Amino acid sequence: MTPPLTPPWRGLFCNRTLNLRAIKAIGYDMDYTLVHYDVKRWEQRVFDYTKERLLNEGWPVADAQFERTQMMRGLIVDTAQGNIVKANRFGYVKVADHGTRPLSFEEQRRIYARTIIDLEDKRYVFLNTLFGLSTASLYAQLVDAIDRGECPKNAHLGYAELFRCVQQQVDETHMEGLLKAEVVAHPEQFVVLDPDTPKALLDQRAAGKKLLLITNSEWGYTRDIMSYSFDRYLPAGQTWRDLFDLIIVGSRKPNFFTERPPLFDLADETEGLLRPNIGGLTLGKIYFGGCAAQVEACLGLDGEEILYVGDHIFGDVHVSKSVRRWRTCVILRELEDEIRAVEAFRPQQEKLDQLMAQKEAIEREQAWLRLQEQRQRVGLPVDEPISNREMQRRFQEMREAIERLDAEASLIAEQGSQLLNARFGLLMRTGNDKSHMARQVERHADIYTSRVSNFEFATPYAYIRSIRGSLPHDR
Ligand code: IMP
Ligand code: MG
Repeated sequence: MTPPLTPPWRGLFCNRTLNLRAIKAIGYDMDYTLVHYDVKRWEQRVFDYTKERLLNEGWPVADAQFERTQMMRGLIVDTAQGNIVKANRFGYVKVADHGTRPLSFEEQRRIYARTIIDLEDKRYVFLNTLFGLSTASLYAQLVDAIDRGECPKNAHLGYAELFRCVQQQVDETHMEGLLKAEVVAHPEQFVVLDPDTPKALLDQRAAGKKLLLITNSEWGYTRDIMSYSFDRYLPAGQTWRDLFDLIIVGSRKPNFFTERPPLFDLADETEGLLRPNIGGLTLGKIYFGGCAAQVEACLGLDGEEILYVGDHIFGDVHVSKSVRRWRTCVILRELEDEIRAVEAFRPQQEKLDQLMAQKEAIEREQAWLRLQEQRQRVGLPVDEPISNREMQRRFQEMREAIERLDAEASLIAEQGSQLLNARFGLLMRTGNDKSHMARQVERHADIYTSRVSNFEFATPYAYIRSIRGSLPHDR
């Protein structure tokens, strides 16, 4: 029997080999993991609500607009400088905007030549999820306003303090209830349905895996959104609740993995009433809060037998791996567009590689000739004596050839740097190198994929092997 072909952008990609047969329980995050949202729509509404809050507090944001393409996940807010930057895997800044204004090469060099981005430093805020786009966009526009002197009341406010103010208002927008009420009232406008996600979970359950839902969202929202997204695709008589052995809402990740916050039983599902828990978790029930250690105890499993699937680079996969040694999968929906864009660009990339190979060959010849000239000048033996005139002629020839190659290559390289996002480029690459985002994924996620339903193609029995990574000395 031939398995169906998986489109390249729907694959499961592996950093550390993972045998799904050895996984006894799979925990799922909800927002942007089991349930995908229309990013433009969702972030626009967060932007609108937060803008209104800021306006009420006297901030000059009346003209601020949300542009989906202004920001992308994986960018880093440098709150000390009021900048939005993209860094490579080593933390070197490769693209930088001050507010919404692109920094010139000179400005960027002056600020970042000696700086290596370290995400442990509170100065930097990594855009871990798609939820970060509206925050970063509002912040950048307020940096512009402060620079224009439009915040007399906050004239002495630093860029770092400004970020805290914006983040606080965004937090309140998420918590206040109006936004979530709007999403629940019109889920069809916000949720991007995927009929294959419930199928993938049904397969995993039937294969004997325990399934867990661990979300930071509140009970009422989780119930309505899961019901909207899943119930329509399940066999008659089943609801989304039947898919999970354990449901934990209000989980306060990342603290869920690092601390022991109080655990509550959901005492009344309609009203969402909570009661302090006595005795720990029991399968089949719904809880609020608690921690990962209680989940392990309840399941009788070690960390490496549990796979956690989420979209938040820090809250879902970094801490679950580093603190509890759970196996991890990160969901990156942008990967689908990224892989398609890279694929469509392949002919140009091949042309660029050819041009660069030609340039390298000439550069090698140039360096060798320069060495011959130097040896001749200081009186050391040379392979083949050459007149000054001939030397100059050959140098000139090579310079012109390199200029021609550069002119052609730089046009293609510029197009390549605008794939996915016109300003910041690809999610996982910075030039030829891996992006800082790719490095986070590599460090903390055992596997990564664009959406949960890709597990359906892989089956619950897949042995997902890491590829033999390439090294500079590989031929
Ligand atoms: P999860 O991804 O299912 O764990 O849930 C994410 C929850 O965090 C959702 O309820 C979001 O509304 C909420 N959320 C996302 N971003 C922010 C933020 O910046 N501040 C506060 N809450 C947020
Ligand atoms: Mg999430």
